[in-house]
Amino acid sequence: MKRPGEILREILKEKGVESIGTLSRKWPSGEDIYQELALLLLEGDGAIVKLGEPVKESWDLEGRKKGPSLYAYVRPCMVDKFEVVVSREDLLHKLPDYPWIIVDLMFWDKHIPKEKGKVSLQLRETYAVMRRMFWPRRLAITWVNEEFKRMSKLPLNKVEAFEGSTADFLKLRGIERVVLLDPNAQEVLSQDDLKEKVFIIGGIVDMKGDKKGTTAKIGEELESKGIEVLRRKIVLRGDIVGVPDRINHIAEILLRMLYGENMEKAILAVQAPTHARWRLRKEIPKRKIRYLIDGKLYLVVEKELYDELKQWLNIRWEDFVKVLRETGMVALERRRIHHLNKISVYRLDRSGGKRVILLKRAALLCYNC
Ligand code: SAH
Repeated sequence: MKRPGEILREILKEKGVESIGTLSRKWPSGEDIYQELALLLLEGDGAIVKLGEPVKESWDLEGRKKGPSLYAYVRPCMVDKFEVVVSREDLLHKLPDYPWIIVDLMFWDKHIPKEKGKVSLQLRETYAVMRRMFWPRRLAITWVNEEFKRMSKLPLNKVEAFEGSTADFLKLRGIERVVLLDPNAQEVLSQDDLKEKVFIIGGIVDMKGDKKGTTAKIGEELESKGIEVLRRKIVLRGDIVGVPDRINHIAEILLRMLYGENMEKAILAVQAPTHARWRLRKEIPKRKIRYLIDGKLYLVVEKELYDELKQWLNIRWEDFVKVLRETGMVALERRRIHHLNKISVYRLDRSGGKRVILLKRAALLCYNC
């Protein structure tokens, strides 16, 4: 899979164009100007042409500023005056028909107003992700209704906004099988699944906690219309906890994977410390050691656990400490733990055993970091 920006660069390279300038005041900014330019062209907003006289400044294919060039981006009204080098059709021709990313709004009415606001916001961000990383024309929003149109503040004419059902959208395009991204699926999204034509994300936001398992219902609805549904989950080291569940984040993880990134790397690219802390709350207790020191119970983990978890969770030291505090644990250096182990005796109990230290002064060894 290629971004339109990459395709534009390839065409320019093939034609021996090293840098392009502009005759318009409209010139994209941002990280990848060729991606932005390609999207402008695709939206019918101008073309790349060969001029009679060079423009003063230009940008090379890596986006670096260069000197004069005979090639430039021009607005639609100017296109006829020059020899066109890259047109909308040249790009369209090279873009694949797939994959589609569909956000399914079947459960729009199950949301309270605040949740609807969040669905709208997450869709605006999904649109931005599609612009940056792919092509908004391959984003479809199904079950679009009047309220969503009003709330979304999205340029709905630049995506595929479909008022009918997802099943009808698929039938119109002769698509019989889809991947449904579902956190409650049995199977993990695999490399093979990435070859499918359609990926569906539920347009669901759950602030009230009353929509657990709702994504599966989107799958049931499609199956009842004769569509084969591959339910797949995205997991971080075997668990969905720690995988951001916002629609735009799921879309970005998916796109990164479609470009060949592995699942863990793709998740870490979008994982905020808040998401990482969800997982920390699960990982830290797995490694706790219980000490009974002079009659008081201490829950201890190795301080070095932080470095280990940092390899695959976007955490900072303060996140580690925060979760320790919440769970009432303390972190001690490995060598101190060895020392505690030496001066303690192991005693089995109903909670799986603890190490008992009778010396009063041993309590001094335990302090919160
Ligand atoms: N409460 C809903 C989930 C809503 S999250 C439920 O239990 O079904 C919004 C959407 O993001 C989901 O519909 C799904 O398509 C996608 N999603 C979130 N986390 C995911 C994960 N770990 N794997 C796959 N898809 C996920």
